[in-house]
Amino acid sequence: PMTEEAVASGVAGLSPFDVSAIRKDFPALHQRVNGRPLVWLDNAATTHKPHAVIDATSSFYSRDNSNIHRAAHQLAERSTALFEAGREKVQRFLGAADKHEIVFLRGTTEAINLIANSYGRQNIGEGDEIILTTLEHHANIVPWQLLAQQTGAVIRVVPINDRGELILEEFVRLLNPRTKIVSITHVSNALGTVNPVEQIIQLAHAHGVPVVVDGAQSTPHIPINVTALDADFFVFSAHKIFGPTGIGALYAKRHLLEAMPPWQGGGHMIKDVTFERTIYQSVPEKFEAGTPDIAGVVGLGAAVDYLMALGIPALAAYEHSLLEYAMEALATVTGLKPIGTAANKASVLSFVIPGIPNDKIAQHLDQHGIAVRAGHHCALPAQRHFGLETTVRPSLAFYNTHDEVDLLVEVLKKLPKR
Ligand code: PLP
Repeated sequence: PMTEEAVASGVAGLSPFDVSAIRKDFPALHQRVNGRPLVWLDNAATTHKPHAVIDATSSFYSRDNSNIHRAAHQLAERSTALFEAGREKVQRFLGAADKHEIVFLRGTTEAINLIANSYGRQNIGEGDEIILTTLEHHANIVPWQLLAQQTGAVIRVVPINDRGELILEEFVRLLNPRTKIVSITHVSNALGTVNPVEQIIQLAHAHGVPVVVDGAQSTPHIPINVTALDADFFVFSAHKIFGPTGIGALYAKRHLLEAMPPWQGGGHMIKDVTFERTIYQSVPEKFEAGTPDIAGVVGLGAAVDYLMALGIPALAAYEHSLLEYAMEALATVTGLKPIGTAANKASVLSFVIPGIPNDKIAQHLDQHGIAVRAGHHCALPAQRHFGLETTVRPSLAFYNTHDEVDLLVEVLKKLPKR
């Protein structure tokens, strides 16, 4: 197998990528599981956190902890400044033009629910059409289904081919004057397919239709610029980009946010309240009712700083070379059938080995310290396209190594047959 150095120097124009130095930043990677060194290949479910994120969160609680915006005292001022600095970091991370376009929420799921409940209820009615794709995570299906049930709107689905790629001609065919929104994942969490979101946005905009991009799986692997993409909405979760759980963000074009009604009501989102009426704050506070996850935003900001300091293009290039190496290595396992073979793919290496149940494969890997997910990955329609209910899904991050991939393949080659 290739050494890490050989791979690093093979990435033209980039400084050498020192994966062993990077691994030192992630304390959770250095533990033993079932007596073996942990091999974390469940990154599509969640990622581990660098010291920078853990320390920022811990330092917030140790020194700065206060509610934000409310009291005129030192700690409130510090907490508020940290919270708003987090917003500016996310703005830069996404390439948004204006920090008021960033709303903090619990994550991708809550962000899509906000869009469906606020923008959706205001703009989508009976007989109107919502375009989704076969590749969507349940978080980008169920909120739209709830909206459709409440309003009489109709969901249309862009199909995929047997490589797990969207059939774009079918998307074009689905666009019509009743189409009110398109909501698509940037990268499939089940198959790894990278969707041509730029092209999809252009096609939708040609029909005057706004587009929601689910960036839960693209933000850890691809540099994002929502302005260049011209995305109307873009959502992601901190825990998939090496930040804390339970925090994430919604980007939306400012004019859209300003026209949207609040979804949740409460403290912090109001200017004035009487029993007769409430005057709301402007954006983004209008959408941030209640005490937010301030420490989460601090941790998310630290994750963004960490990624941007290392350079997302360099991380992505290393990880992509590892993905290609892993796809070739997995192909040498007798009987292994890869699920999702898109030409443009990121991180995810789903497979089945007919004759061996997926949960048995995952349990066997766990016995060797290798963590992968076996299941439906919250994306049942994508699995069912292949006649499957579940797959085994190793998924990579930039802290994984060629040695870890070699170990995965070695253990798979020695799987007990039953
Ligand atoms: N969308 C995609 C593509 C995902 O992979 C995930 C997480 O697995 C989600 C949405 C939901 O993210 P969260 O559970 O952080 O809200």
